[in-house]
Amino acid sequence: MRTIPFFNYPYHYQSRGEEFLEAVRNAMQRGAFIMQKDLFDFEAALAAYLNVKHVIGVADGTMALIMALKGAGISPGDEVLVPSHTFVATAAAVHHAGGIPVLVDCRSDHLICPDSTRRAITPRTRAIMPVQLNGRVADMDILCAIAKDHDLKIVEDSCQAVGARFNGKSAGTFGAAGTASFYPSKTLGCFGDGGAVFTDDDAVADHVRLLRDHGRGVTGKVEAWGYNSRLDNLQAAILNVKLKQYDTDIAHRRRLASIYQEHLGNLAGLLLPPAPDSDERYFDIYQNYEIEADNREGLREHLQKKGIGTIIQWGGYAIHQFNALGLNSDLPYTEAMTKRFMLLPMNTSLADDDIVYICEHIGQFYGR
Ligand SMILES: *Cc1c(COP(=O)(O)O)cnc(C)c1O
Repeated sequence: MRTIPFFNYPYHYQSRGEEFLEAVRNAMQRGAFIMQKDLFDFEAALAAYLNVKHVIGVADGTMALIMALKGAGISPGDEVLVPSHTFVATAAAVHHAGGIPVLVDCRSDHLICPDSTRRAITPRTRAIMPVQLNGRVADMDILCAIAKDHDLKIVEDSCQAVGARFNGKSAGTFGAAGTASFYPSKTLGCFGDGGAVFTDDDAVADHVRLLRDHGRGVTGKVEAWGYNSRLDNLQAAILNVKLKQYDTDIAHRRRLASIYQEHLGNLAGLLLPPAPDSDERYFDIYQNYEIEADNREGLREHLQKKGIGTIIQWGGYAIHQFNALGLNSDLPYTEAMTKRFMLLPMNTSLADDDIVYICEHIGQFYGR
């Protein structure tokens, strides 16, 4: 029997071990640890890759969200619309920036629902925070139109979608600011925590650069209350190596997604994510392969017995279901989906025939 772990952490290093070690050794020998050349090189390379004016490396994706919101001018009492099907960090960032997260529903592609977003707008709403979940960008034509109609900012949680595109435009570049997370299991993962803010707006960029470094300007003079939240230079050195192979990694993920589609596409008990070539406006990077499944627990148990690891994002809870946060709301699609959603293995350590193997066992479970 094969073992297919949900995520293969050692492979992350083994895939390019010598190159990673060389990059880190080189930076260490130069004594380059904080805010050094490797960081600035990475920021420039990622900005060029995404076609955005500024990329600012920060400590992690959550701090990227907090500083993106502050940079975009979110202030105490502002309501920010956030899909409930997301990592708690999205809503926590709104809270820590002083805003009030207001939760909205998602739809069958598991991304923010424009109708639910429109209905949640009040006179206090200041921004929409689409979460470009699982490596796919929401329909930004509709969301940008809503934002324009109601004079709202857009701050994207694009932590799961670095390099995903909608109408040729990169995730994280549609509004005032966007974000990246370089957490190890993210598509562009480093060997620890890391994140970035993206923006085309010089003023937002200047503000985030201050915030990440204790509020200090270029002369060292403090201009605002800031944080210590810089992207570690050694992680940036690793990310410079990873960015060079990133297109290959994304192509790999998209190929795995089409194999899933080919083998599972007509199974009645499942809802699959949109296929890679199903709509030419979308370029999805498949951070995750999130399905909905009848008898989810049974399927997971069956796959576990065959050595196949699966997981359920956020422990199976949408944010409005964490009673401790006091953000209850009535979100029918999200509510129903939390009983059905799960992730199948999706990462660059997997070969095509691993996916075929997984699909055979899923077919077997549903009696095919
Ligand atoms: C990973 C992630 C983040 C940020 O995570 P960090 O661990 O702080 O880098 C934020 N939002 C979503 C949707 C994520 O998946």
